[in-house]
Amino acid sequence: LTLLNNIQQLPPDALFGIKQRYTQDSRANKVDLGIGAYRDDKGKPWVLPSVRSAEKLIHEDPNYNHEYLGINGSPELSSAAAKIVFGEDSKALQQGRIASVQSLSGTGALHIAAKFISSFLPGRSLYISEPTWANHNAIFKSQGVQTATYPYWQASTKTLDMEGFLKTIKDAPTGSVILLHACAHNPTGLDPTQDQWSDIIDAVASKDHIVLFDSAYQGFASGDLDRDAYAIRLGVEKLARVSPIFVCQSFAKNVGMYGERAGCFHLVLPEQENIDTAKVKGAITSQLSSLIRSEVSNPPAYGAKIVAKILNSPELTKQWHQDMITMSSRITEMRHELRDRLVAQGTPGTWDHIVEQCGMFSYTGLSPEMVKRLETQHAVYLVSSGRASIAGLNHGNIEHVAKAIDEVVR
Ligand code: PMP
Repeated sequence: LTLLNNIQQLPPDALFGIKQRYTQDSRANKVDLGIGAYRDDKGKPWVLPSVRSAEKLIHEDPNYNHEYLGINGSPELSSAAAKIVFGEDSKALQQGRIASVQSLSGTGALHIAAKFISSFLPGRSLYISEPTWANHNAIFKSQGVQTATYPYWQASTKTLDMEGFLKTIKDAPTGSVILLHACAHNPTGLDPTQDQWSDIIDAVASKDHIVLFDSAYQGFASGDLDRDAYAIRLGVEKLARVSPIFVCQSFAKNVGMYGERAGCFHLVLPEQENIDTAKVKGAITSQLSSLIRSEVSNPPAYGAKIVAKILNSPELTKQWHQDMITMSSRITEMRHELRDRLVAQGTPGTWDHIVEQCGMFSYTGLSPEMVKRLETQHAVYLVSSGRASIAGLNHGNIEHVAKAIDEVVR
């Protein structure tokens, strides 16, 4: 036992620690703006109608079973998933330049990327935004990938620090890996404009960097899959002759498959005459198989079946598009209502950033002390950085939240 005596006790994960305190709080008016999961206007988890229909069809199928998938997961999922990321008429897809495998949701896709970088691109640093989703650091560090940061959020103006961002990309050693949030940046909710994306991708190209797109909110952010894939498709087009691109795709948010762990990892090969694309893609796919085999053996089937069913049925796809509009428009409505209430109350400060940001989160600008007081005095829970999950707001709690923010800000 002495062997294990010196193992250090770690603090609980910050986000799941909030969840725990929230659950134990007995105040009736408590509000959870911590975890990034969609809630309906009653504050309840929402099973998408497209998911309910897909589940029904799966259960009614006479061939329904719980057999293993192949090592690379469901090809019905990964090929349909590639089409929504890259577009039905993607040149890279038509040219067979994309290798796609199933992953354990977005986290698992990032883990595959991390393993791939440490095995095949050793010594290259990965650049992540400051701030970013906390798990990015942990995932890449765990695989021995060196991480560095690029400036992103300018706190004084609550805008993008484009100058710092571009300078870091240009100063980074040639061939570094740059992680970009495809849309709905977590935690800030602040995305580059289309013009800014163009400058970012040009800067990346000028240094032969490799882009890793983290796509956890496609369709969830704006309700429109194409709009939310803008940056990825621009990247694939502009970087086609430069370098490979990684895409880590999650269906947690846009299909509401949080706990079912459905996702994909895609690797886009560059378009170069001296590359035998089929051969390289085959080699890469075999390496991905070997990596997946030793870690999960076979990816989980249930969520993959549901998502594949939706993506491969025109009728269910249509319903799903509607479902994403339902989610994104409710969040937009809550953003506006919160901003309007804060302004109407005369709460000190400016609040337009709440409606200008998009996706699940808003970086409110509230200080750690204010966040603490929100929790202790008002039973409103959010992350100490001031990140609020807007999906946790509804018509039943927004008045309380707006008044609570007013009290802590004054
Ligand atoms: N990337 C980002 C930026 C995220 O916000 C999340 C979810 N919080 C993920 C990846 C991955 O989530 P999951 O593993 O549940 O798909």
